[in-house]
Amino acid sequence: MATDLAKFAEDNGIKYFMISFTDLFGGQRAKLVPAPAIADMQAEGAGFAGFATWLDLTPAHPDMLAVPDPEAVIILPWSRDIAWVPADCVMEGQPVAQAPRNVLRKLIAEAAEEGLHVKTGIEAEFFLLTPEGDQISDPFDTAAKPCYDQQAFMRRLDVIREISDYMLEMGWNPYQNDHEDANGQWEMNWEFDDVLKTADKHSFFKFMTKCVAEKHGLRATFMPKPIEGLTGNGCHAHISVWDAPGAKAKTNVFAGDGDGPTGEVGLSERGKHFLGGIMAHASALAAITNPTVNSYKRINAPRTTSGATWAPNTVTWTGNNRTHMVRVPGPGRFELRLPDGATNPYLLQAVIIAAGLDGIRTQADPGKRYDIDMYAEGHTVREAPKLPLNMLDALREYDKDMRLKDAMGQEFSAAYIKMKMREWDSFVSHFSQWEKTNTLDI
Ligand SMILES: [Mg+2]
Repeated sequence: MATDLAKFAEDNGIKYFMISFTDLFGGQRAKLVPAPAIADMQAEGAGFAGFATWLDLTPAHPDMLAVPDPEAVIILPWSRDIAWVPADCVMEGQPVAQAPRNVLRKLIAEAAEEGLHVKTGIEAEFFLLTPEGDQISDPFDTAAKPCYDQQAFMRRLDVIREISDYMLEMGWNPYQNDHEDANGQWEMNWEFDDVLKTADKHSFFKFMTKCVAEKHGLRATFMPKPIEGLTGNGCHAHISVWDAPGAKAKTNVFAGDGDGPTGEVGLSERGKHFLGGIMAHASALAAITNPTVNSYKRINAPRTTSGATWAPNTVTWTGNNRTHMVRVPGPGRFELRLPDGATNPYLLQAVIIAAGLDGIRTQADPGKRYDIDMYAEGHTVREAPKLPLNMLDALREYDKDMRLKDAMGQEFSAAYIKMKMREWDSFVSHFSQWEKTNTLDI
């Protein structure tokens, strides 16, 4: 991989670099830098007014510099003389503590100190809509159970195939694409990787999918519940922990036959405690994995037209059963089914490590394994906590969870809660038709 971006430009015919960072709300911000200027930018960073983005900075703050990470550079497959490069935010020589990629870097370093290297794969579901975003783009995609619909797939082959070709070209080892459970919904899977690489790929995947959809006159959305009554966009994370990063990883630290019900499904003692941390902090970490007002229309949802929401509403775990918040599909890994398409790619990975490490440190027990169909029998579960019902509840749970806030970083947590509470205030001050319909004649 490149360490000298000027040389990378020369070797690959790159004319521009897109230096990109992600703010607290998951917005991707970039500057387009001509190749002759990249050497200085690589040394100094590209200057941004932090207040102009969602980072809890004021207009009086000095320039924030986005310093490109040359190890993570990607040539845009649809515009091959431009390279995208994610950046780390710095101000006056110090990392900006609340910047999401820095939060993740801090947690990766903490896990590494304990000999733990987290790898994840994510399933970033999305819809293809009309350009206005209010309708499914394919008017014939109306089946009651549209999942894996071969014919509907062929009507969007040009978009899905193009994205898949690009993933092959970039060496992501993509391995399957399908029409998902909602009309107009898709999922494309690529190989799991170290968390920072997965977070960068997740960011780039969203960028790429939106660009390719726009090129075809469509609009791609990762919004958690873009169409009322249909299954929402999840972003399930498959988590395992290894003895070393990258290709040096030899031993899956999670694989084993530890004690009790987690051992029976192939999780080691450390795997059990990591899962215990996720379970213990679930209601609080929902503020990160389900970060928008709309997120709570995906979890806690009534049954969809396909028959299932495929989203959890209770803090439970199980073996190979998709109706719970956590599924252990096989030895040595588990799937967190809580996150949705609005989750910030960097904060998602950071909060998984933060909760998991806390679980290992406190030897947390994930509790009872439920092997029931939660969609049919969930009401019989009395002991397990319910997930937050809305964004405000989730933010309050996060604010109360001192250990998780500390693990994510106090500066980050304060900034995140402040910006998200403002967003909630903006939502509740919005005057809706529902209020009028239900209150006018009271
Ligand atoms: Mg899916």
